[in-house]
Amino acid sequence: MQHLTLNNGVRMPVLGFGVYQIPADGTEQAVTDALAAGYRLLDTAAAYGNEEAVGHAIKNSGIPREELFVTTKLWVQDAPAQDNTRRALEASLARLGLDHVDLYLMHQPFGDVYGQWRAMEAANREGLARAIGVANFYPDRLLDLIINNEITPQVNQIETHPFFQRDPDHALMREHGVQHQSWGGFAEGKNDLFTNPVLAGIGDAHGKSVAQVVLRWLIQREIVTIPKSVNPGRMAQNFDVFDFELTDGQLAAVTALDTGRTLFFDHHDPEMVAWLSKRRLDS
Ligand code: NAP
Repeated sequence: MQHLTLNNGVRMPVLGFGVYQIPADGTEQAVTDALAAGYRLLDTAAAYGNEEAVGHAIKNSGIPREELFVTTKLWVQDAPAQDNTRRALEASLARLGLDHVDLYLMHQPFGDVYGQWRAMEAANREGLARAIGVANFYPDRLLDLIINNEITPQVNQIETHPFFQRDPDHALMREHGVQHQSWGGFAEGKNDLFTNPVLAGIGDAHGKSVAQVVLRWLIQREIVTIPKSVNPGRMAQNFDVFDFELTDGQLAAVTALDTGRTLFFDHHDPEMVAWLSKRRLDS
């Protein structure tokens, strides 16, 4: 497995396993299968409702803790966010059965963002989270957070796939030492991604699937990726992406697929801000 080094020296695998939308009662099996396939980075969130199942799979795997890279996420907190954030992290750790996570992400750029971030900085100093970062931060919000706080986020996890490639975000993150992580790398299959003729043509040239081409494209851009699958065959396929390389011409062909637009949530749409902010969690 290739690793990247975050801006605080923590090493992170370039490929991991995401568990969004896996029902809690199917998550333990999916994570057990993913660990058996070789995945060591696991990406969950308080909002996914399956941290406990992820924790059971980790415990039953017998894999030494230091070989795993576990990410979870803080949901939108009301002020006083410093106390609430601390409580939310402790609740996530209890559900996961862990004494620390490797990466704690602020899930959305909403709520008392600065209070949340300062509590995350404190948790990082105490060793409860080896690295801290954000998700769904557009360049303007990310830069403001960097300028006005002590710790520069180690990671920004954002929607990134061939139809929404995020070049301006990537450039800003690179300039400030923030690791770009993709969510929805397959766009959850939207826009007929898995049968896209350009991606399929590149796959044919390498004897690889569209999914493998997409993961390879992300990895060659030095973007950490966390494909989700409940199917052990597809988990293995998605893990088998380190024995081929896209040429410059093939990278350019993927670049041409960019629409520059989200296929999911528009974080600048007031209705979406209101909807996400209303989804409070008990923690
Ligand atoms: P995704 O990885 O883009 O796509 C998952 C879909 O692709 C599933 O329907 C899966 O079906 C299918 N699939 C997987 N491998 C395949 C293959 N080799 N061939 C054909 N189909 C395949 O979607 P995602 O789950 O939204 O994103 C990945 C992870 O990012 C999440 O699990 C989560 O950890 C994270 N995420 C974070 C945020 C955030 O706000 N920070 C938002 C969304 C997601 P099967 O399961 O049936 O294989």
